[in-house]
Amino acid sequence: MTIKRLTPQFVEHFPEKLESGELYLAMEFATAAHLCACGCGNKVITPFSPTDWQVSFDGETVSLKPSIGNWTFRCRSHYWVRSGRIEWAGDMSQEAINAGRKWDAQAKARLQANRSSGLEIAPPKPEAQAETQAPSLFGRLKNWLGL
Ligand SMILES: [Zn+2]
Repeated sequence: MTIKRLTPQFVEHFPEKLESGELYLAMEFATAAHLCACGCGNKVITPFSPTDWQVSFDGETVSLKPSIGNWTFRCRSHYWVRSGRIEWAGDMSQEAINAGRKWDAQAKARLQANRSSGLEIAPPKPEAQAETQAPSLFGRLKNWLGL
């Protein structure tokens, strides 16, 4: 049976058996789970992160960004969760899937590059300052001591 809506259920842990039409949100683990909206019974896990899914809760309903593309399932269903409603996306070509995967990998690589370059850029500054200051300070100390 095709699912038309997902009702948010905020849980600490995912139950062993998910009910269809429920979107389980384990915010502590920044992950949601639901059964595939086509009714095939496959469990769909959507972790939340800047490069995975973003969730928005308006107090009643939940939206997920980007779309849910279950290409690993036999049903290959692809849909959006907008304000708790399932909105079916058109069939995705393998090319589009690959492009999406490539984009995802690139986004992840970019994020990681940003993170590591941020770490690399930050520390040299105090060191460089210490290096330029140390000799002059030492020099001034030498002058002051008359050495
Ligand atoms: Zn399915």
